[in-house]
Formats: sequence, C-alpha cells, structure tokens
Amino acid sequence: MKRTKIKIGIDEAGRGPWAGPVVACALGFHPENKPAKDLLERLNDSKKLTEKKRERLYSELIELSIWEAPQVFFGVGVVDNYMIDEINIAQANKEAMRRALVEIQRKISQFELTSVVIDGRDNYEFEELKQPPLYIVWGDAKVKEIGAASIIAKVFRDKLMAQYATLYPQYGFATNAGYGTQKHKQKLQSPNHIIGIHRSSYKPIKEVLGKKPKLLLHVCCGPDATVPLMDLKKDYDVTAFWYDPNIQPKKEYDKRMHAFAKVCDIEWVKWIEGEYDVKNFFKRIKWLEHTPEKWEKCTECYDMRLDRTAKLAREMWITYWTSTLNTSPHKDLEKMFALWEKNSLRGNLEFLKIAFRKNGGFQRSVDYTKEHNIYRQDYCGCVYSDTFPGNERKWAKKGFSG
Ligand code: SF4
Repeated sequence: MKRTKIKIGIDEAGRGPWAGPVVACALGFHPENKPAKDLLERLNDSKKLTEKKRERLYSELIELSIWEAPQVFFGVGVVDNYMIDEINIAQANKEAMRRALVEIQRKISQFELTSVVIDGRDNYEFEELKQPPLYIVWGDAKVKEIGAASIIAKVFRDKLMAQYATLYPQYGFATNAGYGTQKHKQKLQSPNHIIGIHRSSYKPIKEVLGKKPKLLLHVCCGPDATVPLMDLKKDYDVTAFWYDPNIQPKKEYDKRMHAFAKVCDIEWVKWIEGEYDVKNFFKRIKWLEHTPEKWEKCTECYDMRLDRTAKLAREMWITYWTSTLNTSPHKDLEKMFALWEKNSLRGNLEFLKIAFRKNGGFQRSVDYTKEHNIYRQDYCGCVYSDTFPGNERKWAKKGFSG
C-alpha cells in the first residue's frame, strides 16, 4: 500500500550563548489533515515574531501535536554544555538535530518521509536518513516546517534557561537565555563565578577561568599590609583599599598613607583611597570614647572599616575580601572574624579568615619595613589610642579635624 508523504523541517536554538544546552527541533505537519490555516499564515517568518506571539504559536503547536489524531509531529534534541565543550558546538548541534530526528521518526513511521530541510548551510549528513537533507539559508522564513521547528526549539530552550534562572538568579538567564549580555558579563569576575552550565570551551568563559579571582584587601597601615600583599597576590588579583578614616592628626594620616602607597608600589598592587571621615567615627563611638583599647570603642572602629570595605567589594563585584587589621598583635582577632562574618552576609561575599600575624607573619612585616624603610607608627591611630602623643581632650576640642 502506498504511504502518505511527509516533509520535515529542522532548526536549532542556542549556538551562541555562554551557558546552557543547544536545542534542536524536527517538525512535520500532518500531510492530509492540515492544521488551522491561520496558524500556517502566522508562521511566515518566525524571526520577526514578538516573544508573545512566538509563545502563543508554541502553545498551539504543542496542542496540535497531542490531539488524538495529531496534526503536528515533532521531536526535540538537547545536547548539554558538557558535550558542547567535549565535541565542539558544530558537532553538538548536529547531535541535537540527530536526536530530534530519531524522536520524530518514531512518531511518523506510518508516513513516507520525502525530504528533510534544515535551516542554514552546515551540510551535516545523518545515518538515520536515506537521502541527505536539503539546507536552506534563512530556511525559517522560507519553509513553514523549519519556521515551526525554530519556534519550538527557541521557546523550549528559553523555558529551560528560565528554570536555571531560579537556581542562579544573578546571571539574568530568564532574559538573556545564557547569551553574553552586559549583566551576564559583569557577573563573571573570577573562576568561582563560573557555574555548571557555563560552556568552558567558549572564549569569554575560558578567559575568566584562566584569571586569578579578584580580592579586595582593606588596609589600615603600610607595615601591616606587607605580609598580606606578598602572600595574597600569589593566588588573587588584589586591589588594596586604604581606609583609615580616623587617624589623627591629619599629617599622621598622610604619613601612614604614603607608607602604604610605597608598599603597594614595591609589590605592584593597585590601590584605592577611601574617605578621611573622622566626624563619622566620633558619631559612631559616642558614649564609648573612654572604653579601653580593644573594647567596645574599638569594635565600632573595626566595624566602620569592614562595613565600608564590604560595601566597596559589592560595588566592584568582588567576592573575596579580607583586611590587614589582623596582622597587628594589638587587634582582637576573634572580634574581627565575627565582624567579617556579619559584613559578608549581605551580598554573598566571602572573607578570607587568615591570621596574617601568625606563623612568623608579624616578624616578616617588621623585617620588611626595616629593609624597605617603611614608616611604622607607634600608636593605634585615633585620639583615644593608649599611646597617642599628647592630650586627647586637646584634639577633641579642636573639632577633630586633625
Ligand atoms: S584605638 Fe585604634 S582600634 Fe581603637 S578606636 Fe582608636 S584607632 Fe580604632
């Protein structure tokens, strides 16, 4: 008995994105019981469709495929990013099409397959076909079967990426579908930002994977910055953040900042200067002024520095951060670690809990400052420091301008 003839169109979605799978669809219309005329008319050029119209056509095509006597037959092939990285995108694309073909062939076994038309000019050959497929450039605008296949492949893939977006909301997958948009790019600052669905063989992802992760280092003085800078720059792309807002007098502040800048120059580390903000310091420690060093006043002082540094890390999209405050044996390490933890919670930051002063760290910093003639201060910094030169009340009366 002579079988009814059917034609299949194939298209794919997702060659270019930096994340997610490539999806192909093979689709054929029932040769006799034609689907609704208006649906065919609306398929004229799938690339020109709005997202809303494309979604509606997708639903209608699915609907027609599940009728008791289906009007539309289709198969979908998905190849994940791991296989894309292994065999390259062109071969992965072919494999997605092959999978889609195998699926539709099962559904249309009662018909005689006359031809397979594919969008583009790849010229893949498939063992599953007796005759090679026909390739048509801009096929989705010229052949209804390809146009319909492109709608299913695209919407199917978009829906998949929207689901990934619920797992990884920061990359904007629900709107960019894994493409390299500005938002997506901004989120890829270091290797730890690359997730399981990124295509590591793609150049932009490869570049990020080869990078050292970025780290923001809060610096309180030049001598305490020496060991952290020397050690951290081996594994991280370090930016040093000078934020010592309450050092008095101002000329002492300047002296310390120049010592810090000298260490950064020697170590070839880029740096940023924070604000000199004595007024805010005095506001924060109101009523705590005469608590002893390392007590409540100092906790506020550490928190002011760490809070500001964490804010900057978030603004700069830097995940890792730490501080030189813990190089000095005069600081309360446990208190600082607790504050780091608190300040990391907002914005998914990760602090490096390294006690730089330990394992000979403090002595290394002393040796370094001697060797390079780096200024080392002899009091903590504010007017209430135990060994502050002179009378703190005198400074307080001067309005704390330094
Ligand atoms: S003594 Fe040092 S740590 Fe304490 S408040 Fe003053 S500058 Fe800050």
